[in-house]
Amino acid sequence: MKDILNMTLPELTRWMTEELGEPRFRAVQVWQWLWQRMARDFECMTNVSKKTRALLAEQAEIRWPEVAKVEKSRDGTTKFLLRLADGALVETVLIPSESRDGSIRTTQCLSSQVGCAMGCTFCSTGTMGFERNMSMGEILGQILVARDYLGDRRPEYPVLRNLVFMGMGEPLLNLREVMRALESLNSDTGLNFSPRRITVSTCGIEKGLKELSDCGLAYLAVSLHAPTQELRARIMPKAARWPLEGLMTALESYSLKARERITFEYLLLGGVNDGIEQARELVRLVSRVKGKLNLIVYNPSATDIYAAPTEERILAFEKYLWDHNITAIIRKSKGQDINAACGQLKAASEREMSAASPE
Ligand code: SF4
Repeated sequence: MKDILNMTLPELTRWMTEELGEPRFRAVQVWQWLWQRMARDFECMTNVSKKTRALLAEQAEIRWPEVAKVEKSRDGTTKFLLRLADGALVETVLIPSESRDGSIRTTQCLSSQVGCAMGCTFCSTGTMGFERNMSMGEILGQILVARDYLGDRRPEYPVLRNLVFMGMGEPLLNLREVMRALESLNSDTGLNFSPRRITVSTCGIEKGLKELSDCGLAYLAVSLHAPTQELRARIMPKAARWPLEGLMTALESYSLKARERITFEYLLLGGVNDGIEQARELVRLVSRVKGKLNLIVYNPSATDIYAAPTEERILAFEKYLWDHNITAIIRKSKGQDINAACGQLKAASEREMSAASPE
């Protein structure tokens, strides 16, 4: 059976015209049903002939991820544990925020891999190891689940405003499927997300960064977390295999749109990377490009090797950056009461399942 959500529009068109003998416009109709009207079966595609619907149902399936668990935080953050067709579990998170006009805008954090090979020392997903890449259909399937949950059915007034590839996995290590997903997101007859509404967050993968820069289909965020090679190698040992100097040189020639800036993610770990000495190094690095900083306050669990930074150090760190002309915004971790950090819900669910299963 074909996994029809895993076809780009050109692939769907080729298959329907060449193998099913359908006209091109029929493929666009089916594509609209799948991505705009969120059809879960072929039967509801009422402007497609009965014969074609039967043919599609015979040869293809619409495989939405199954919702295994939903947790909603007091701050409105909602986390889903999704089961893919082969049973693999991934997470996606919806983060609401209030815009200037008072309306609520939702950002979705997407996973791109099952597990992750990068092994960042502060991350639950990093401790799980890598299982497999997600397909384009699985990546975009997370959006269907979210829009369905939000009742987001009018593409002209989207509730789901922004997407960030910041969930499980390193997107640039699944470059082919992430690029297919970005191309499909850009389709105005499909999900219709402009590149300004999409951010791909990466630790910095040499080969993938160049392709992301060339395609112009998303904004870039870099998970930096340490301002020196030595500290980065301690916190993010695999990411640091590409030396910081090489990463920064590549970022200097990264192609940015007008008014676009590279976002640097910097997780403040108490007593590790939150001192003025690190802030000074950070100014030196970030000044090399058109960039801004998101300072994320670490929220440890009881067993963590890292501690939260103190309020005093957070504010001193932020002030130092602003005093040296670096835009820095403090972001408190959302959904602290629901395991909302990357990988925590999956890890907690797997612990529950193994506790419940007989010896
Ligand atoms: Fe992978 Fe991102 Fe976690 Fe690092 S922070 S281990 S890249 S999921």
